[in-house]
Parts: sequence; structure tokens; C-alpha cells
Amino acid sequence: MNDPKILVVEDDATVRNLITTTLRSNHYPYITAGNGEAALAAASAQQPDIVFLDLGLPDLDGVEVIKRIRCWSKMPIIVISARSEDADKVAALDAGADDYLTKPFSVTELLARLRVAQRRVAAESKAGDCVFTNGKLTVDYGAGCAFLDGEQLKLTPTEYKLLCLLARDAGKVLTHTYLTQKIWGSSWESDTASLRVHMATLRKKLEKDRQTQYIQTHIGIGYRMLKAE
Ligand code: CA
Repeated sequence: MNDPKILVVEDDATVRNLITTTLRSNHYPYITAGNGEAALAAASAQQPDIVFLDLGLPDLDGVEVIKRIRCWSKMPIIVISARSEDADKVAALDAGADDYLTKPFSVTELLARLRVAQRRVAAESKAGDCVFTNGKLTVDYGAGCAFLDGEQLKLTPTEYKLLCLLARDAGKVLTHTYLTQKIWGSSWESDTASLRVHMATLRKKLEKDRQTQYIQTHIGIGYRMLKAE
């Protein structure tokens, strides 16, 4: 996927122009929609590869747009919103968004997020593989173990589960609720506290050489596996 087609959903013409100008000058083909209904129509009729979605739309709430697209498609959705509250980001991510950018955003940041989404799509096409690799990290789903620099990691069952969840969705921000639901089937405050503890011990084992960061913390929101260079 060298030139993904991008659907830009934004009712504010100034912001929309900033995004489309950036995409044009970087040779990304795009289509635009100025409201939620038009976005849903364009998403199904034109099958874009990636969506940039504003949350504050005149007709539908952006979170509703995410939910409806997720009924039938896994296309990456990057939320671009003026809402800076963690709760809004979490609602968008839990509805199925991949990532978020808060307005005002930089054009460089926009392009960086776009590349992350592109890599995710590329990785997804290989998701049937039973071995995941990222830098020095290898997860062998078949054997149920993980290696760092060829050496087997001594992980607890919870740490291993967490690692698999992050690896399967590398590049995507996974919320506390999503992770605790997957691991314990609940998301009480105490689960989120336990999650923090397990994540800290996992990170210690993964990032012991302190040279590579594999897991990024989004305070108040969740975690994301980064692509190691
Ligand atoms: Ca708006």
C-alpha cells in the first residue's frame, strides 16, 4: 500500500484544507466529507484505506461514525479532535478508533500518525503469521513464548497475554478498559491498577537494555506497542 486513499471527515473548511493540502503535497490521494452521513456514504462507496475523523460533526457524533464503520470494516480511523478530555479519547478508542490527534496539531505529527496506520495495515495483512517480530522482540504464538534478542523471556501468564494483545494490534492505542476486559473480563478500578503493575513488570523485562522502547504509555488512556526501528 504505497499510496493509500484517505477519507478526510471534517466540517471546518479551514482545518479540512490544511489536511488536504498536506496530503496533496505528500502525494496521498484523498476524498473528503463534511458531515457524518456523507462520511459513512463515502466510506462504504469508495473504500478508503485510512480515515481522518473529526469528532464534532454537525449531524452525527464522530464516535457514532466510528461505531457504524466498525460494524463492517477494520479500516484504520485516526481521530482528529478539538476535544482534549481523556474521556473523549477513550470513548473514541473504545468505539474502535486506532489513534487520536488533538487540535491544534502539527502537519509533521499528522504525517507521522498516517505512517503508523499504514504500517499497521501492512502488518495486518501478515497477521495470519504465527510469529510476530518487532526489532529484537519475537512472539511465537504457536509455541506460546516470547524472545528478546534470541533469549526466551520469563513472563508470567498475564504479562504474556498483555504482550500478545499489544503485538496483535501493534501501532494501535489500546485502552485500559479494552485490556482489562480481555484479561480479566472486567474493568473495575482495581483491574486498571493491576494492569499498571503487570505492564510495569512487562516493560522492565522488554526494555531492560534501555535502548528500545516497545511500549508507549498514554496516561489516563492506555498503551500502544511501538514499532522498534
Ligand atoms: Ca468539527
